[in-house]
Parts: sequence; C-alpha cells; structure tokens
Amino acid sequence: MLDEIKKELVQIVGPDRATDLPEHLVTYSYDAYTEEQRPDIVLFPITTQEVSAIMKVAHREAISVTPRGAGTNLAGESVPIRGGIVVCLTKMDRILSIDAESLTATVEPGVINLDLQREAEKRGMMYPPDPASWAVATMGGTVATNAGGPRTLKYGVTKDYLLGLTVALADGSILRTGGRTLKNVTGYNLTTLICGSEGTLGIITEIVVRLIPKSPASRTMRADFKRLEDCSDAVAAIMAGGSVPAALELMDRFVVKAVEKSFNLGLPTDVEGILLIQLDGAPETLDREVRQVENALIDKNAKNIIIAKDSAETERLWLARRAAGPAVMRMRPNIITEDVTVPVSQLTAMIRKVTEIGERHGIQVGILAHAGDGNLHPCIVFDKRDEDEYKRVQTVCEELIPEALALGGTLSGEHGIGIAKAPFLRLEMDPVALQITQGIKNCFDPKGILNPGKFV
Ligand SMILES: Cc1cc2nc3c(=O)[nH]c(=O)nc-3n(C[C@H](O)[C@H](O)[C@H](O)COP(=O)(O)OP(=O)(O)OC[C@H]3O[C@@H](n4cnc5c(N)ncnc54)[C@H](O)[C@@H]3O)c2cc1C
Repeated sequence: MLDEIKKELVQIVGPDRATDLPEHLVTYSYDAYTEEQRPDIVLFPITTQEVSAIMKVAHREAISVTPRGAGTNLAGESVPIRGGIVVCLTKMDRILSIDAESLTATVEPGVINLDLQREAEKRGMMYPPDPASWAVATMGGTVATNAGGPRTLKYGVTKDYLLGLTVALADGSILRTGGRTLKNVTGYNLTTLICGSEGTLGIITEIVVRLIPKSPASRTMRADFKRLEDCSDAVAAIMAGGSVPAALELMDRFVVKAVEKSFNLGLPTDVEGILLIQLDGAPETLDREVRQVENALIDKNAKNIIIAKDSAETERLWLARRAAGPAVMRMRPNIITEDVTVPVSQLTAMIRKVTEIGERHGIQVGILAHAGDGNLHPCIVFDKRDEDEYKRVQTVCEELIPEALALGGTLSGEHGIGIAKAPFLRLEMDPVALQITQGIKNCFDPKGILNPGKFV
C-alpha cells in the first residue's frame, strides 16, 4: 500500500488508532482457523462516519478491507488473505440503550456478547444467542456470522433476535436496515441478508436486537454414558419426549479427557459420552420436564444422572462445557473445529461416520456437539508442521462434508463458510443460488473489496 494512502487512512482515525508495526500486523493476520496473512494496516474506528470514510478511500483505491471483531471465528473469515486494511471494531464497544418497555437493546459492534447478556439480565431480560465464545466474541462478529450456541435449540440463532442494523457499505455510503419494532415487513429483509454475510457485504456499525423476559427458573442436568451411541440416541429420545431443553450438549470421551487434563473438574473419564442438559421455564412445569428427560436418559442406559441442586453446582456443570473448546485446543498445536449439522434423527449415524473417518486416516477427532439441534463439532487436532498429518486432516474434512449432506444435513450449522468451507459450497448450494449470491455481492460491493477471497 502506498505511503500517502496509509497517511490518509491514519488521518481518519488518528495515529493512536492505527498501526502498521510488523508485530501488530502479525496479531491481526490470523483468527481461530489455521491460515494467516498479514494486512498492510490495522485501523480501529470509533464512529460510523470513520468507518464510512475508510471505505470511501478503500473504494477509490480498490483496496481490500477485512472487518474484524475478536477474531474468534473458526473458518478463517477474518483472515485478510489479500492484505490491505483490517478494520477492527473492538473499540466501538458501547451499549447505547436497553429499552425494557420495548424489549430491545441498541449496541455498537464491539460490545462483547456476555456483557450484553449481563446488562440485560440485571433488568430481568435475556439475550438468548450465546456462542461458547461469548466471553470474548463481539456483537458485530456474532451478527456477521449469525452465531448460535447451546441455547439455539429452544431460542434460535442471532438472526432471530436481530431487528435493525447500521452498515457502512463498500463505497462508504451508510445503510440503515430494519428498525426498533418487533414487527417490520417493509421491503426485502436486508437485515437478515447482512446477518451471516461474514463481512462481505458491509461493515456493521450499530445493531438493534430483541430481548426476551428472563426465564423464571431453570434446571441443569448431566448424564454419563458408557456407550457413545446410547448417549447420542438419548438426544433423539429427549427431543421426541415432548419437552424442548434450552440446551442439550454432548461431549465424547476425548473431549472429557481434554477438559480433565486442563481443568480437573471431576468429570468421569471412564465414559464414552456425557450429555449436559438445561431446561428452563415456569417452575410449575419444570419438575415434570426434568422427569421426562430423566426417563429418556434411563431408557438409553445412562450410567449416572446428576441434577444440579443449586446455582453453584449448575455453574460447575456448565464450566465443563465452556472449558471444552479451549481444553481440546491445548491437546495438539493445531485444531480445526468442524461444524457439520444433520437432522437430529441422523445424529448417531453422523457420529459413527466421524469416528470411522478419523480412525481410517489415523487422525484424532473429538466430538463436541450442540446435539439437540444436530450441530456436530468434530474437533480435529493435529500438528500443521507435519505435512503428511495435515494432508490427512484435509482428507478427513473433505470426507465429512459429503457424509453430512447425504444424511440431509448442511456443511455449516453456525461457524460459517470463510476460507475453510468455500471449496465445498458447490456441494450444497445449487447453481441458481450461487448465481443469485454472486449477484447480491456485486450489487453491494461491485469492486469486490470487502473481505475478498472468502465464500463469494
Ligand atoms: C472456543 C470457541 C467457541 C466457539 N463457540 C461458538 C458457538 O458456540 N457458536 C458459534 O456460532 N460460534 C462459536 N465460535 C466461533 C466464533 O466465536 C463466532 O463465529 C463469533 O461470532 C465470532 O465473533 P468475533 O467477534 O470473534 O468475530 P471475528 O472472528 O472477528 O469475525 C467473524 C466474521 O465476522 C466479520 N465481522 C466481524 N465484525 C464485523 C462487523 N462489525 N461488520 C461486518 N463484519 C464483521 C469478519 O469479517 C468475519 O467474517 C466459537 C469460537 C471459539 C474459539
């Protein structure tokens, strides 16, 4: 990038909120996937106008721009693979308002998901989308990836709570979509279109979300299984049993052992699978639902069932699930967290396939799953420096995806496409859908400068 263009960009945000120091550029060259590429400059705007001004320069000069939140995505979505500018939104971190009467919140994109959750809870409300990365992931990142989480099963994903957006487009113009009302059917739903667009259509600078009243009561349970197949069969049995848990998470033995190795939380390591279940709702109906779930677990040979007695025990049970991702990441130098999703009725079949494919290629694969919605996260651990092992890892990914599609599933349940899944897009989307997708991209970003080289 030419020095005078860098100077012009630095002037927009001021020297304190721009950097091209090599050691800083390295920090912004990667995310939670395996690829990396340095940008030419990183900018930290604090207003919509600054983002718009950056985009005007980038558009004029046809420079690539990669928006970035906390960089926790698992598909290489915020790697600036064509260099250029990284626009990091983490300094736009104000909760602008929480409106208890309208049940809405307006936030800047750098607000951390958990911070919004806590502020909503203080006022008796709840923001349901809860990716396991919630302690660090930004609202902008969760909107741009349409993130889900354990509570998706009962409450849905980010798009289900999104009401309105302010977005700086590729040419610097500012788009306002949706609004603050719970109902809005005016025109095409551009809000939903931008949600999940992975920074390829515009940079989100303000977000309006819907809140819901906090559930009056909840119960958390853990069930341990000697056989992984019983564990995954229990998921389908619970779902068929008439109550929809707020969360229904599965960890296999590899994941449980990783958690124990890193955090020593007292999980049993002689089991093949563990389910973590949370039920919430009115206290009058909860006991009945707990019994329903318990019966399904017993029916599927649960070895041990724990029903948390108080909030401390609930917290301890959940800690094991929240620790799972980081614990598995510490097992080997590299990890790919897969995201294939199948109908719940096919969960056991998919788990069987994952295990078989991993074993056939001599690759360690742990299974972590938002099991209640069929969203599997096979955790593939390896050492990228070992070229042969890395090739086998890629083969495992290539084989997993068609299997999920054959079972009626999708190649991504929540992590998105990014670099990781771009080569497989054609397996799921038909040519007409691909053509329309490209047309939408051309309309928003005719010069192709926004997060180039990704899925579109
Ligand atoms: C341990 C762990 C657990 C996880 N668990 C879950 C989970 O349960 N569910 C889930 O869905 N994901 C999960 N993730 C993935 C990740 O945390 C989510 O995708 C999250 O939404 C990314 O937020 P971020 O702020 O880190 O965004 P980034 O990773 O920085 O960016 C993600 C994408 O959003 C774009 N983007 C970021 N900010 C903006 C903006 N303001 N405007 C436009 N585009 C923008 C980027 O260009 C990129 O394409 C997990 C990741 C880890 C490491």
